[in-house]
Amino acid sequence: MKPAAFEYSAPVELDEALAILRQHGDEAKPLAGGQSLVAMMNLRMARFGQLVDLRRIRELRVISEQDGTLVVGAMTTQATIERDEVVYRHSPLLREATGYIAHFQIRNRGTIGGSLAHADPAAEYCAVALTLDAELEIASSGGRRRLPVDELLRFAYVTTLTPAELLVGVRLPSWGARSGFAIEEIARRRGDFALVGAAAAIALGLTGLIERVRVVLFGVGPRARRLTQLEDTLTGADPDALGIEAAADAAAATLDPIADVQATAHYRRRMAGPLAARVVRTAPARACVNADGAAGAR
Ligand code: FAD
Repeated sequence: MKPAAFEYSAPVELDEALAILRQHGDEAKPLAGGQSLVAMMNLRMARFGQLVDLRRIRELRVISEQDGTLVVGAMTTQATIERDEVVYRHSPLLREATGYIAHFQIRNRGTIGGSLAHADPAAEYCAVALTLDAELEIASSGGRRRLPVDELLRFAYVTTLTPAELLVGVRLPSWGARSGFAIEEIARRRGDFALVGAAAAIALGLTGLIERVRVVLFGVGPRARRLTQLEDTLTGADPDALGIEAAADAAAATLDPIADVQATAHYRRRMAGPLAARVVRTAPARACVNADGAAGAR
């Protein structure tokens, strides 16, 4: 099928894009790589009178480090993230997660901003951003603001962004040298969206106990979510302690997962615990490698 007719603009300046969005209100839609939006428009699941292509706005493609925080421009493609040395050094979880996203043809065009703004419940980047306590830089013609990712994601495909706002960048704070990360997922085929996925970030204290921890599930409910009950159990614990699997299973048992043609709710609940336990086991092992000064955090 073909999309309904629409007007198209491709501004070079961010301010120009913001002015067009403000002018057209609900009728306007930002276009990143089109990997979700164009498909939805082709299927007539979405109609917009004005597409604002962000591809020519260079400042949205910049990757930088600012006072220990990695800042990734919203229009940075997944393929760039996969190869970028600064990303790898600063945020190995983001790079590891990228390998799970679709296929390289899609990663060549799909962007981090598009992925977060699209808010697919199974999107790896939503889960990674939540795991790392990311903040988002958001712009409108009225000014700029920052928002924790937890306050961006509402439900499946719904965010708190207004039609006049653009996601400009993603800020990923450093977790420090004694930290490690892991992500795992179950999908029917490599490149498919996850049926169930889990990500963890763990920072160890000087005594080797878990000082700070995030465990996030994705593909399970209407949005990526933290397992705060498990995080509370793990904080201050020995990462090698017995009982982590049981604690992860107990946390997963409280979930009310979605059921669809891909998997039942029971299956998702049953898989969530073991996956969460696996990332919780892997992340601290990588933290020890980092703390010992070995290259990389993987
Ligand atoms: P677009 O499709 O251009 O836009 C998506 C939405 O975000 C639109 O609503 C758009 O208006 C909005 N938007 C875009 N940029 C901004 C911005 N800067 N500010 C505000 N709003 C914005 N993703 C995964 O995470 N995991 C997978 O396994 C996976 N598998 C896929 C398999 C297939 C076959 C396909 C086609 C896609 C898959 N994707 C997957 C999604 C894909 O990787 C993209 O991340 C996602 O579609 C976003 O694409 P995009 O960046 O091109 O954004």
